[in-house]
Amino acid sequence: MSKLQDHIQNTLDQSHPHSDEYHQAVMEVFDDVASVYRKEPAYRRWNIAERMLEPDRIVRFRVCWDDDKGNIQVNRGWRVQFNNVLGAYKGGIRFDPSVNESVLKFLGFEQCFKNALTGLPMGGGKGGADFDPKGRSEREIMRFCQAYMQELYRHIGPNVDVPAGDINVGPREIGFLYGHYVKLTNRWEGVLTGKSPGFGGSCGRTEATGYGVVYFLKNMLKAHDQSVEGQRVLISGAGTVALYAAEKCIQEGAKVLTVSDSGGTRVFREGMTAKELASIRTLKLEKHGALADASCGTWHPGKTPWVSAKGAIALPCATQNEVDGNAMKRLIKNNLVALCEGANMPLTQEAHDQLIEANLLYGPGKAANAGGVAVSGLERSQNASLQSWSMDKVDTMLSGIMADIHDRCIAHVKRRNGIYPYSKGANIYAFKKLAEAMMAYGVK
Ligand code: NDP
Repeated sequence: MSKLQDHIQNTLDQSHPHSDEYHQAVMEVFDDVASVYRKEPAYRRWNIAERMLEPDRIVRFRVCWDDDKGNIQVNRGWRVQFNNVLGAYKGGIRFDPSVNESVLKFLGFEQCFKNALTGLPMGGGKGGADFDPKGRSEREIMRFCQAYMQELYRHIGPNVDVPAGDINVGPREIGFLYGHYVKLTNRWEGVLTGKSPGFGGSCGRTEATGYGVVYFLKNMLKAHDQSVEGQRVLISGAGTVALYAAEKCIQEGAKVLTVSDSGGTRVFREGMTAKELASIRTLKLEKHGALADASCGTWHPGKTPWVSAKGAIALPCATQNEVDGNAMKRLIKNNLVALCEGANMPLTQEAHDQLIEANLLYGPGKAANAGGVAVSGLERSQNASLQSWSMDKVDTMLSGIMADIHDRCIAHVKRRNGIYPYSKGANIYAFKKLAEAMMAYGVK
């Protein structure tokens, strides 16, 4: 460990104890930028490292709501406004029992780097609540969203903080949240992204993260004289990101062998068809059913995609730390060629280190899944200029942005043993951009 890494670890231990996910995300970045930091004395002079670790502010609040039986439920809500040197805070809202301050700090920190990579003027933030929407009626979810917004509206604004969706927060929840914001403020403005295109949302926002992952993968494979067509792809998750990544893979002629949820994995030995994907989408998104109830492919209860099939491409699109060391060993043994992260930080530290050691193509989430926030940025532009762009236009822009992100990831690094170290390149590019803005702003 270098002196800088030691210093960062000590600072984290003292200022952010009991924040394992946050430590993991920060140390991964500073492992990659240590040499750059050493070479530029101004970073130390302006104390960029310590300043970058401390979020601008964290708002934590009580969320009380009535369930269908008339019982008063109490949850915890947060908004982490991490860093706004590159633009208004921007990042999703997650509703899940696993949400806590450590998870939101890691997501907010990563979001600053991701947004810097898009080239759009966006700072980083993240929010959410420890609310579990599973088994809740639509009315209960609506009341929860309204109760959450009852506090959140004080802290957000079109030029202040512009949240979007994340796990368990899709267009329906964004509609409930936005509707309550409009009611409370009497202002119709671009304060949330991921809205329905019928009332200010952008075409292609729902698809953007999943499509973007595959656009990034295409660029990465092309730079190494390979293509997506004909590849055997393992996808985890069956939510927004996973199913649109699957859709784009199928359109590109790849074979999607798996999708999964917290109950298990559904395997398609010959590759999922577009019709099978449509039936799963109906089950998951409209009826909010479990993948176990689908009637296509074969069901592997309690199993992950990584042990259920063999593929050259892995797209983890479910949640953090979903691929552990054993799973990674198996993927590598089964001739993995490339892994692109649809989810944020889906690899445990051990799995991450094994992948780097194996010298395989690795698209880190902060680059590969940046398509969602990029189209959120486009949604803001449409709202600000009272315009609504077509799906074709947005998709073409998304594909161009993902190609630019790919190129930014390799702008500051050279090939090592024949491949580009994308993760290191992404961290260095975004770090420099953030650090330069922080130094230009002076001490604040
Ligand atoms: P969704 O809520 O739409 O879907 C999440 C999926 O992951 C569900 O199928 C869920 O299954 C599954 N899942 C969740 N936890 C686990 C677990 N512990 N084990 C196995 N499966 C699990 O979320 P999104 O698709 O929006 O987000 C997925 C990931 O992508 C997250 O990491 C998110 O931060 C990241 N991301 C999302 C963006 C977006 O635009 N939505 C943008 C960038 C990143 P079940 O239904 O059974 O819980």
